[in-house]
This record gives sequence, structure tokens and C-alpha cells, in this order.
Amino acid sequence: MAGASSFEQSGKDVKSLPAQNAFVTSLAGKTMILVRLRQCHSDGVVCLDGFAPGDLPAEGDAVIARRSGLLLAVQVADCLPVLIVDEAKRILAAVHAGWRGLLAGVVPRTLEAMQSRYGSDPRQCLAVIGPSIGPCCYEVGQDVAMPFEQAFPGRSLLWSDFQPPGRVLASGTGLSDASANPRRTLDLSAACRCQLETAGLPGSSIFSRPPCTSCHRDVFYSYRAEGGSAGRMLAAIGKIR
Ligand SMILES: [Zn+2]
Repeated sequence: MAGASSFEQSGKDVKSLPAQNAFVTSLAGKTMILVRLRQCHSDGVVCLDGFAPGDLPAEGDAVIARRSGLLLAVQVADCLPVLIVDEAKRILAAVHAGWRGLLAGVVPRTLEAMQSRYGSDPRQCLAVIGPSIGPCCYEVGQDVAMPFEQAFPGRSLLWSDFQPPGRVLASGTGLSDASANPRRTLDLSAACRCQLETAGLPGSSIFSRPPCTSCHRDVFYSYRAEGGSAGRMLAAIGKIR
């Protein structure tokens, strides 16, 4: 069976592409078109209805569509993949959200785009937050912790002095001041859940008990743990008809 065609191959020839293509082949065969974006840690939302194949690849970190036959995909390695469906209006979305994207508001921007373009009601949407680096491993410096404290007042997103076995430190990520400040880790998934609930999704419609990508490197890729050579996992959502 031939693989699903693709509007765009990732600009980065990462080692995971063969596995991604095999996944798509097994999932969709020839029947669906895989859509990947040029992700840039932004709040950019691309609506595929009205797009022609020649218009892509597009730059952004969320993609929405009502059309059937498309597999909307985001690539992640520690960042959050978030898949959203409006069951009533049959609108789909795939979102890539790391700490930059969460602060930029890519999740609420996606729901706003679904509302303005299709009349989606967030109260009728379901969301799945996939595997990402967890608060067990995602140590952050003040440059990341402070804006999260400001953006999510009163929320317990930052964990202090949590030191699980295998905790991974990274260089060049604002951690140089770690020895002078309390060690803190960030719960990206909880921040995303907070944004989804604030946007109107019922808590019972958000599914988010993802394992930590850094703790489970036997099955996941982790940018923090493996560096720039880490592969990328594909999270995709689509409807056949
Ligand atoms: Zn972990």
C-alpha cells in the first residue's frame, strides 16, 4: 500500500520521518492527505478550508479544517500535541504548543478561530493533550518561570525541588542561574488544560494524563534529553468522510 500523500514534508530531515510515514500509511493508506506545517512556536493558526495544495506549506503552529480526507498533524518532541474536535460541527484542530506557544496563546487562538470561522462552541469540543515532557523533568529558569507565574496567577504550574531519578539538565535554556535559585519544573500540560477550560471546554471533555517523554525515552523522543538530533513524533487527527 502506498503512503498517504503529503502537502508538505518537514523542512528538517529528522530521523523519525520514515516512522511517521509508516504511521500515516497504516492509519490512512491512500485515502487521506497528510498536512504538516512549518512550526515556529507561534500563535499562528492555519485554516485549511480554502487552501489549495499549492498554497502550502504554511507557517504556523495550529491547523484547523472542516474538510474530510485530511490528516492534520503536528510534530513534537517534548512540546504538547493538542488535538481538538468540535463534535457538533465536525471541525478538527491540531496544535503544537511548547512553553512559547502556550504563552503566545496558540491554544485559545485556535478555539477562537474555530468559533469565528465555523461557529464552534468550545463547550461542545473535546480535547486530547498528548505526551510531552512532564513536571518531573522539565526544569526551567526564571526566564520561563516568571512569565508563567504572570500569565497563570494562582495556578500551581511550577513545582519546586522535585528531583526524580534520571532528571535531565540542559544547557542554554536559562538554567545557568539554577544554583542561585530554587530548582523549579514546569507543568506544561496543566497550563494547557487551564487555557482550554478558560476558553470554555468542560473539564470532563479534556483528556490529559500523558506520560513524560523524557522519562520514557524508550518509546518517545525528547528534545530536552536528546538534543537537536531528537526525532519528532507525529500527532494527527482527521476524518475520512
Ligand atoms: Zn519525566
